[in-house]
Amino acid sequence: MQFSSLKQDAQIFDLLQKETRRQAEGMELIPSENYTSAAVMEAMGSILTNKYSEGYPGKRYYGGQENIDDIENIAIERAKQLFGAEHVNVQPYSGSPANTAIYFALLNYGDTIMGLKLDHGGHITHGLPISFSGRSYKIVPYLCKPDGWLDMDEVERLAKERKPKLIVAGFTAYPRDIDWKRFRQIADAVGAIAMADISHTAGLIAGKQLENPVPYFDVVMTTTHKTMRGPRGAIIMCKEKYAKDIDRAVFPGLQGGPHDSIIAGKAVCFAEALQPDFADYAKQIILNAKALANELKKHGFKLVTDGTDTHLILIDLTNKNITGKIAQTTLDAIGITLNKNTVPHETRSPMDPSGIRLGTPAITTRGFKEEHMARVATWINDALAHTNDTAALQKIKEEVKTFCLQFPIPNIHA
Ligand SMILES: *Cc1c(COP(=O)(O)O)cnc(C)c1O
Repeated sequence: MQFSSLKQDAQIFDLLQKETRRQAEGMELIPSENYTSAAVMEAMGSILTNKYSEGYPGKRYYGGQENIDDIENIAIERAKQLFGAEHVNVQPYSGSPANTAIYFALLNYGDTIMGLKLDHGGHITHGLPISFSGRSYKIVPYLCKPDGWLDMDEVERLAKERKPKLIVAGFTAYPRDIDWKRFRQIADAVGAIAMADISHTAGLIAGKQLENPVPYFDVVMTTTHKTMRGPRGAIIMCKEKYAKDIDRAVFPGLQGGPHDSIIAGKAVCFAEALQPDFADYAKQIILNAKALANELKKHGFKLVTDGTDTHLILIDLTNKNITGKIAQTTLDAIGITLNKNTVPHETRSPMDPSGIRLGTPAITTRGFKEEHMARVATWINDALAHTNDTAALQKIKEEVKTFCLQFPIPNIHA
């Protein structure tokens, strides 16, 4: 039994036990979630959290850094090796502050950024009007075509017309691979900085299943907790010529002391991703996503772009006469977790959109294979056909639970 020391806090102990049970008995299809290894968790929960180390290796504002410097340098070297990066900053607390640091480093307030519109699959930090990015910079959003595919000709036209200082490629709800070279060409044609945000697909890129933008792009950000399967956090990779500006923007520009325990977790995660079996994992994520996409189509679900190249599936539920919000709530009731999501050219609202977003990174970590995807799709379809039938949902929930318990979650604390 773990959590043994936590028992002194009965309230939190009890909730962690319940959450463990929820994760073990349910099926996690949120495409940005995953299960870290025990090694990553041990690093995250280690005594490194006791340390303060503002600054960078060899240039700290506090004493006692001999081990911390080595850990941070190892994390940097492993990330460079994994992605072929010239320079890496491993200190960003998470993806949103990392994107903010990139803008802060490379732009002036009021400069123009081009990013995919949020309800077409972009991220809040790519220019949502109410976010820091949208309020501090002039945003030129680009869109997907009515069929859900990125409109690269429109990206080119807009870039030539609006002359952005920075173009962001890389998305949070886009199921297809990205033409990095075309983005690079467009950025070059207008003299813009090319930025990639690979938060969702970094594990698939590290596992050599999708093309890596790091060699072509000026600056690349990724979170480490999604397909990378590491600790909650982010890194920024960039060309040498931007290194000083990026480092200064992260610290002291935006952050104070780095989270050393998380940096150790990043180092462990990069070592895991450098192993050959991580490529097998990345490959299986995509095989599972394609199989699940096909099974969902057999049930009449309308997939945005009609399929996926990645870990992620976006469904427009309009033809099923059900909203994303009701679908999410109904699937929660059977122990399948995913999220309601806008679809390109959304006609409803973000809190009650037309679609759902799902993905296979977490279930692939648990050991699900293609042959299991038909059952997953059938449970989703059956539940959504019985949104008001509590007895039917309860019966499906029991089936989901029995099935999931055959695939123990890693690193279980119960
Ligand atoms: C998840 C994500 C982020 C933000 O990461 P947080 O750690 O949640 O702040 C940024 N960009 C993209 C594309 C993402 O998917």
